[in-house]
Amino acid sequence: MEPFRLMRMGVIEIICGPMFSGKTEELIRRLRRAKIARQRVVVFKPSLDNRYDEIQIVSHSDQRIPSIPVEDPAMMEYCLTQLALPVEVIGIDEAQFFDSSLIPLVENWANSGIRVVAAGLDQDYLGQPFGPIPHLLAIADMVTKQYAVCVLCGAPATKSQRVWANHQKTPSGEKILVGAHDAYEARCRGCHVRGVDKAVVVASHENETTVV
Ligand SMILES: [Zn+2]
Repeated sequence: MEPFRLMRMGVIEIICGPMFSGKTEELIRRLRRAKIARQRVVVFKPSLDNRYDEIQIVSHSDQRIPSIPVEDPAMMEYCLTQLALPVEVIGIDEAQFFDSSLIPLVENWANSGIRVVAAGLDQDYLGQPFGPIPHLLAIADMVTKQYAVCVLCGAPATKSQRVWANHQKTPSGEKILVGAHDAYEARCRGCHVRGVDKAVVVASHENETTVV
C-alpha cells in the first residue's frame, strides 16, 4: 500500500510499534520496492545501533539493506549534500533514538518532494512516547502501526516490556538499551501492566519471541 508514490509528491510515512513487530522488515520491504522502481534511495540509522551490522539494516528475520550509520540528524543532511544526484527516497531505521532536530528535517525533505519512510518504537519500555516519533506520527501522511505477539497470552502486543534474567547486568533506569531478545519482550496492554513477573518471564523465554 503505497498510494502516495503514484502522486509524485513528497510524503512522510511512519512505521511504528513495539519491539518484535516487524518494523524494520516493513521498512526494508518498502525501500526494496523503491529500488526496484529505480528510485534513488538512501538509508540512515543511528550509529549507536550496532546490534548486528555496522553498515546494513538487518531485521530480526535477517532481511537486510545497506545503510549509513549517523550520529545525529545533521549528519544525514551532510551526507545528502555529498550525493552526485538528488535522492528520491530516504529511509530511517530506529528513528526513536534521534533527537527532535530530526522533525524539521523530515518535514523539509517531504516538502521538497522526497519520500521519507521512518521506522521506530512509538513507546519506550514504560509505555511512554519515545523521542521524536510522537511528533512524526502527528505530521505524517501515512502511519502504519504494527503489532507483535504478547509472549504471555498471545494477544496482539503494542508494548515492549523490559525483562531481566538474574545473570544479566543492566544499567538501572536506562531508557536506551539496544539488544532485543535478552532484555525485552512483546506484551499486550494487560500483560504490560502486570509488569515483570520473574517466574512467568523465565517460562516465556522457553518460547523464542519471533517477528510476525
Ligand atoms: Zn498479554
